[in-house]
Amino acid sequence: MVKATQRRAPADPTDLPVNALRGVGPRIAERLERLGITRVYDLLFHLPTRYQDRTRVVPIGTLRPGDEAVVEGRVQLTEVKFARRRMLLSRITDNTGSMTLRLFHFNAAQREMLERGARVRCYGQVRSGAATLEMVHPEFRRLEGEEPAPVDEHLTPIYPTTEGLHQLSLRQLTDQALGRMAAGGPPDLLPRAIREEFELPPLDEALRYLHHPPPEAALDVLSERRHPAQQRLAFEELLAHRLSLRRLRARVTDSSAPPLLGNGHLREQFERDLPFALTGAQRRVSNEIAVDLDQPHPMQRLVQGDVGSGKTVVAALAVLKAIEAGFQAAVMAPTEILAEQHFRSFRNWLEPLGLEVVWLSGKQKVGTRRGAMEHLASGAAAVAVGTHALFQEAVDFDELGLVVIDEQHRFGVHQRLALREKGKVGERYPHQLIMTATPIPRTLAMTAYADLDVSVIDELPPGRTPVETVVVADSRRDEVVERVHAACRSGAQAYWVCTLVEESDALQCQAAEESAEELSEALPDLRVGLVHGRMKPKDKESVMADFKAGVIDLLVATTVIEVGVDVPNASLMIIENAERFGLAQLHQLRGRVGRGRKKSSCVLMYHGPLSQTARQRLAAMRETADGFEIARRDLELRGPGEVLGTRQTGMLNLRIADLQRDQPLLPAVARAADRLLEQDAKAVDAIIQRWLGQGERYGEV
Ligand code: ADP
Ligand code: MG
Repeated sequence: MVKATQRRAPADPTDLPVNALRGVGPRIAERLERLGITRVYDLLFHLPTRYQDRTRVVPIGTLRPGDEAVVEGRVQLTEVKFARRRMLLSRITDNTGSMTLRLFHFNAAQREMLERGARVRCYGQVRSGAATLEMVHPEFRRLEGEEPAPVDEHLTPIYPTTEGLHQLSLRQLTDQALGRMAAGGPPDLLPRAIREEFELPPLDEALRYLHHPPPEAALDVLSERRHPAQQRLAFEELLAHRLSLRRLRARVTDSSAPPLLGNGHLREQFERDLPFALTGAQRRVSNEIAVDLDQPHPMQRLVQGDVGSGKTVVAALAVLKAIEAGFQAAVMAPTEILAEQHFRSFRNWLEPLGLEVVWLSGKQKVGTRRGAMEHLASGAAAVAVGTHALFQEAVDFDELGLVVIDEQHRFGVHQRLALREKGKVGERYPHQLIMTATPIPRTLAMTAYADLDVSVIDELPPGRTPVETVVVADSRRDEVVERVHAACRSGAQAYWVCTLVEESDALQCQAAEESAEELSEALPDLRVGLVHGRMKPKDKESVMADFKAGVIDLLVATTVIEVGVDVPNASLMIIENAERFGLAQLHQLRGRVGRGRKKSSCVLMYHGPLSQTARQRLAAMRETADGFEIARRDLELRGPGEVLGTRQTGMLNLRIADLQRDQPLLPAVARAADRLLEQDAKAVDAIIQRWLGQGERYGEV
């Protein structure tokens, strides 16, 4: 291993502000900054999105529509035409064929340049015209004499840019940066041993190649980002993220937490009172959690389990273990409805054991809230259940030992950290149990959740029958209403989920109100309930309680019921405008049925015409109920940023790598990360700094 400490790093001539380059004044610097470019080396890491090939002249006879190419020919005929608009048409020919140049805006000089007999070179995209192939507004210039004119030596990079910054300026600046790199550029942060093992080219070679690919470079490989030069950079970027998360994890593991050594008496009684036996997967995951909770360091465990796999019971067992050890637990959910449901479940489970569970919500009455807080502070209450608002304000616990965060897929690493800090008492952190129904492929989890341990509940409770899913056009709404009628008359319960195109919450709720009215008119013998986000918490609560108790037959709802809601007797779900939902959301919604022994169905009602991806989404829902398979298809249709819900949170904000495309790299990235962490702390710092910068480092939130 090379000892970084013994080598004095040479000065890096690209480690200067961009205004060190010719042609960069305050205006250009400001525009570059919009692209995230402030240092000279930032230009080197600002990679082209695509390339143009101006390295050879293409015979006209070999062109195909869609090609972008340089052609050279002699003008046969140039004329101004008045069709719908005035335009200049110029026919050029080489010895293999002829084509037309079409210009809608032109001046006298251009017209003259294209005079009959002139030799011209053009670059543009080819399309099929009326009679011949043509280029609309190509770049062109006249060639003098008969000598062959030189062509470019490398492919032309096209960069992502911003208003007021031309490709040409970006190219010139990048060329200057490449010149400086030749004199000793940004250091190659990957140790040679790692580069060799994973067959990655050196940094300067990769950067030079990507800014100036040689004429023979394979454009298709480059556009799919599979070239070794691109893979090398993606590797380093993914490595940076993983290193940052592993560092964070190490910091967590080093900090202390109370070991929650219970004697099992509460858990045993709880299990005895359950009306069912735990599944093998529930038992295995509970044991994994129990081992973590025994440690004097905070647990950071993510439990993944498909909708309906029974995560709540697993959480309850962890909570009871904390209580057995004399500590309190907090249980958090992302929505009021889900938090309320957890409150009921935990109260039903824990009160018979002589334990007090309190409810905390941002919206509850001051008096009620104060009472709950007092019980938590004195230690009279063992468990607090609430929305995340629970931790937004100062809630004093007597001895908080465990925080359970349900349905965490909506939260990124920053939120996880913030919650962790809030739970800190003195030097001790509570243990964290995070639960999600978003099953993400293993390799993805390895990167996105590299700071967590992951357990998977990969088994559904016995006796579940798969939900039958049908897709129907909303022109058949009457039939669907009749189906709801028949189902509810025979003792089933149903959900009717509404949504609108508009993002507005108010309009969503209004749509649900209207549907509820229509449905109660159409089905006078059914008891129709309504729940949406704008109702008072108390009203929402009582509607949900009525539905659970079977007092309501048909529950009309907005997506407030999307996560977590558990009413096993509900066996029919209608989703209106299903084409507007993403796959993950449809899967979550559908997960509200099929939770009991009854055969369940889900009707995806759409408003046509369907887009291509909407059609694929609905087909996927019909074809599979497996959360992992759905996640895989979702990944294909949407890309990982959205699957992980990271667009909003800024987590894993990747510049070059793409979690889906570069999945094959992830196992190697993980191995390289472990090795670097062990052997080269300096390189770890430098890699994190290069790719994540100061502000984005996870460990320092
Ligand atoms: P999710 O993983 O989606 O949060 P829940 O915890 O809400 O699932 O459980 C779904 C339903 O399955 C609940 O009604 C719960 O009581 C029931 N359940 C959980 N575990 C079992 C089991 N081992 N056997 C039978 N039913 C179970
Ligand atoms: Mg749940």
